[in-house]
Amino acid sequence: MVHIGRDDGIFERERDLIAMPGLFSKGSKGVPDLTDDASVIPIAETDYIRRVELLDSFEDAGLGWFWATDHLGRIIYLSKNAKEKFGLPDAMVIGKPLTGLFITDDASMLDEDDVSTRPLAYYLGARNSITEMPVKLASRREEIFLEIAGKPQFDARHRFLGYRGSARDITRSRETRRDAQRLSLYDSLTGLSNRLRMGRRLETMLKQYRNAKRVCALIMLDLDRFKQVNDTLGHPAGDELLKQVAARLKQICDTKGEIGRLGGDEFQIILPDIDDRGELGELAARLIQMLAQPYSVNGSRATIGASAGIAIAPYDGVNSEDLVKAADLALYAAKGGGRAQYRFYSSDLQEDAQSRRYLEEDLRDAIERGEMLMHYQPIVKARDYKLSGFEALMRWDHPDRGFVSPEIFIACAEDIGIIDKLGKWALRKVCEQAQEWPMELRVAVNVSPTQLNTGDFVQSVQMALQQSGLDPDRLELEITESVFAGDDEQTLKIFHELKELGVRLALDDFGTGYSSMSYLRHAPFDKIKIDQSFVRGSTEKGNKNSAIVSAIVSLADALDMETVAEGTETHDELELVKARGASHIQGYIFSRPISQQEALVRLEKGDLAYEPRGPERHRAERQTVFRKIGLIHDDHRYRVTLRNISKTGARIEGLIDVPVGTKFVLDLGDGQLAVATVRRSKKHTQGVEFETSLISDGADGLCTRHRVSPYEIEAAGKPLAALTRDAYGQLAGLSPGMSIPRFAEKGD
Ligand code: C2E
Ligand code: MG
Ligand code: MG
Repeated sequence: MVHIGRDDGIFERERDLIAMPGLFSKGSKGVPDLTDDASVIPIAETDYIRRVELLDSFEDAGLGWFWATDHLGRIIYLSKNAKEKFGLPDAMVIGKPLTGLFITDDASMLDEDDVSTRPLAYYLGARNSITEMPVKLASRREEIFLEIAGKPQFDARHRFLGYRGSARDITRSRETRRDAQRLSLYDSLTGLSNRLRMGRRLETMLKQYRNAKRVCALIMLDLDRFKQVNDTLGHPAGDELLKQVAARLKQICDTKGEIGRLGGDEFQIILPDIDDRGELGELAARLIQMLAQPYSVNGSRATIGASAGIAIAPYDGVNSEDLVKAADLALYAAKGGGRAQYRFYSSDLQEDAQSRRYLEEDLRDAIERGEMLMHYQPIVKARDYKLSGFEALMRWDHPDRGFVSPEIFIACAEDIGIIDKLGKWALRKVCEQAQEWPMELRVAVNVSPTQLNTGDFVQSVQMALQQSGLDPDRLELEITESVFAGDDEQTLKIFHELKELGVRLALDDFGTGYSSMSYLRHAPFDKIKIDQSFVRGSTEKGNKNSAIVSAIVSLADALDMETVAEGTETHDELELVKARGASHIQGYIFSRPISQQEALVRLEKGDLAYEPRGPERHRAERQTVFRKIGLIHDDHRYRVTLRNISKTGARIEGLIDVPVGTKFVLDLGDGQLAVATVRRSKKHTQGVEFETSLISDGADGLCTRHRVSPYEIEAAGKPLAALTRDAYGQLAGLSPGMSIPRFAEKGD
C-alpha cells in the first residue's frame, strides 16, 4: 500500500531515514536539510516523499527489505514487513547485533571447495562493502535464506556511522540452485558424487595435502560382467544393480573416504591419510569380495565381479591427473591379470599396459597363424590313481613371448570380443584330438560364460560332436560359477539343452565367490571342481580350507555329483583331499598339462597308472626371480642379485662371507626398503629374513607396506615428485656418509 499523506507511518519512516544518511539519498551529503531555503523545500520534499513511497512499495511488493546498524554493529532499523514476515518483534531486533540476526550460510554451495565464504563478522569488522552475501536467518526453526548487501557509512569527518543495507529472500531460488547443482555434481542414479565433483575434490585435496604433507589413496573400481547383466536382465535391472553396488561401497567406505561413480560401471574412492599398502590391499580385497556376493534385482539373481586399481599420493602421483592415470593403469593391469583382482600401481605397469595392447593386437589372428594349441592335464581317480580323463587347457605359443598364460589371454579375448571364436576353435580341436586317442577317455573343455551366452553355443557343441564323431558322453564342459551372473532361467535352459545332447557338465572353480546352493540344486551338473585355493594351505594349522573341502564333498555326494580336487601339488595335500572324500584328483603331483604328442605316447603304451610325485608339504610361496637390487649396510650401497623372494625372506647373491646375524636394508626399487637379517650364509649367497613381512601386490608379486616418502625426498632438497625406481638413491645420495665397504663383492 502506498502512503501519500503524512500519516504516522511516514513520520516514523522519516525519522528512520534521517537516522540513516547515505543509503537513500543521491549524494554523500545525506538527506536534504528540510529547514533549508523555503523555495527549495517543496521540490526536495516531493522528491523525498516520492522516494520514500517508492521504497515503501518496494518493501510491500516483497522485493526486498532494508536494514541499518549503528557504529557498534547493532541493528537500528529493519523493514517493518521483514519484522512481520519473520515474526520478529522490535525487542528481538532493535539494539541487537546484526551478526545475531544473520548468520553466514556456509552450505550455500554444495561444492564446498567452491565457496570462499568468510563469516559476516569479518566483513563488518573490516568495514568492507557486502555484496550478494548469502546468509541464514537466525532464531528461526524453518530455514530462511537471505541475500544481503550493505555499505559502511561515514560522516564528513570520516567517522564510521554504521551500515545501511538491503536484504531479499532467496530461500526458493537457493533450493532451485542447489537442485541444479546437485544434478551437475552428483550422480542421479546412485546419489554418489559424479566425475566432475570427484575430479574437483581430488584436485583441491591434493593441493591442500601437499602443503600439509599428508597422503591420500585413490581406488578405481570397475565391475566385471556388468554388461552381461544389462544385456540379459535389461537396463532397469542394470540400474538397480548399480544402486546396490553403491550401497555396498558406502557400507564399507563411507566413513573412510569419498565414493563417486564416474559413469557406466566405473567407481572411484578417495581415501585420505592412508598409505599403508597392507591396509589398502585388505580393503580392496574386501570390496571385491563384497561386490561379488549375489544381488537380487527386480526378482532375479545377479552376480558380478569387480577389479580395483590403487594409487597413492604423493608416491605414485603428486597431482590429480597423474594419480588418476596411475590408478587407471593399475586397474587396467588388474583386469588384464584375470578378474576379481586388485593391483597397486608400480612404475613397471607403464610397460605392462603397452605390452598388453600389443598382446591384444596379436591375439586377434593368433588362431589363423596357428599359434593356438591345446594341452591336456590328466585327472586321476582318488581310489587308485588311474587316469580317468583329461582337462583340455588352451595354450598360446606367442612367437616372441613363448607360452602366454590363459589367465591373461582369456580375459583379453573376452575384452576384445573374440572369445566366441576362440571357444569354438577349442571345442572343435579337442573333439578331433580326443578321437585320435587309442582309448575312449573323457575330455573336459573350459567354457567362458560369455561364450555360453552367445546364442548359438548349443549348436556349436553339436557341430563339434558331429564333425568329429566323438561320443557325447566323453565330452565334459567346465563352466565357472560366474555363469550365473545374469538370467538364471536362460542359463538353466541352455544347460538342459546341453544335457539333451548327452554331454556332461562340470562346475569349475567352485567356491571362489559366486557360490550359491540354490543353483546347484537346479542345475544338472555331473561334477564339482574344488578350486585350488581351497586345496592350497588346507593342511596348515588353523586353516579353514580343509573344512570347506569336506563341506563341498558332502554337498556333492548328497547331490550325486563327482568331485575333483584341483591343483593338488604336495603329498600332504593329496592325503588331505583323499581323506576328505574327493573322488578325483588333478594337479602337478600327478602331472602338469602335457601336449597332444605326449598324451598320445603315454596312451599308446597303455600306461594309465599315475604315481604321486612332489614335495612333502607346501612352503611359503617363493618366487624365483633374477633382478639387481640395492643393499645398504653401514652407509654403503652395494648391488646384489635377488634370486628368490617370499613374504618373509629372500635369497641374495653378490656379497662374500657375510656373517649370520648381519642386518642390512634391501632396496627393492620404487622406494621400497626392507630391513633384513642374514639367517644363512654360504660364500656369495645369503638367505635373509625380513623384519616386516612383505605383502601381496594384488597379483603374483610382492611389495612392501611402506615406501620412502616423496616428502622426505623433498625435505632433503629435491622437488616433490612421484617415486622413481631409484627413489632411495635420490634420498641417500643427498647425505653421503663415509662409505667404506665392509664386504667384498663378487665380480660378475
Ligand atoms: P581352470 O579351468 O581352473 O584350470 C586349472 C588351472 O590350474 C590350469 O591353469 C592348470 O594348468 C592349473 N593347474 C593344474 N594343476 C595345478 C597344480 O597342481 N598347481 C598349480 N599351481 N596349478 C595347477 P591354466 O592352464 O593356466 O588355465 C588357467 C585358466 O584359464 C583355467 O582355469 C581356465 O579357467 C582358463 N582356460 C584354460 N583353457 C581355456 C579354454 O580353452 N577356454 C576357456 N574359456 N578358458 C580356458
Ligand atoms: Mg577348468
Ligand atoms: Mg578350475
